[in-house]
Amino acid sequence: MNKSFGFASLTLILLGVFVVWAVAGINGEDYSNAMIEIIEKEPAQPEAEVIKTKEEWQKELSPVEFHVLREAGTEPANGKIYKQFKAQEGGIYYCAGCGAELFSSKEKFDSGSGWPSFYAPSEEKNITLDVDYKIGYKRVEVKCSKCDGHLGHVFEGEKYNTPTDERYCVNGVCLKFLPEKEEKQK
Ligand SMILES: [Zn+2]
Repeated sequence: MNKSFGFASLTLILLGVFVVWAVAGINGEDYSNAMIEIIEKEPAQPEAEVIKTKEEWQKELSPVEFHVLREAGTEPANGKIYKQFKAQEGGIYYCAGCGAELFSSKEKFDSGSGWPSFYAPSEEKNITLDVDYKIGYKRVEVKCSKCDGHLGHVFEGEKYNTPTDERYCVNGVCLKFLPEKEEKQK
């Protein structure tokens, strides 16, 4: 058997395995009731990195949170969670894994993409950007710096009318939302 043929079939087999794995991953989780958790006070901000075993994360997180945060999954676009996100007013978004502040309503915008979108983080030190090639072309992965949880991806140059021309495309299940307290009328 010639070498380049062997290499080509190996590539095809790997591609096949990847497709099966990707499809099984998407269909394996039930997102129908997934929502952004609403919290009433600011979570304690992690100072050091938050390191847990797979079993510990599995215990703490819901199955969809675990799949997205710890296995770099993606929630379906345009779900209930996206409607919930769009309807939310002022407030801060924290990591559903470790509670670190990530985004705020000030940087939120309506991208129409089906996923929560921000033009910048509110706490840049809590965000890490990582280049990945998992779907065959370059993507920039957005992760929480504190717990290393997968949050989504950042896309550039899409010409949204925002200050940065960047879109942090984030899975809602990775977020907890603290609504701004209304000012008391005097
Ligand atoms: Zn985190």
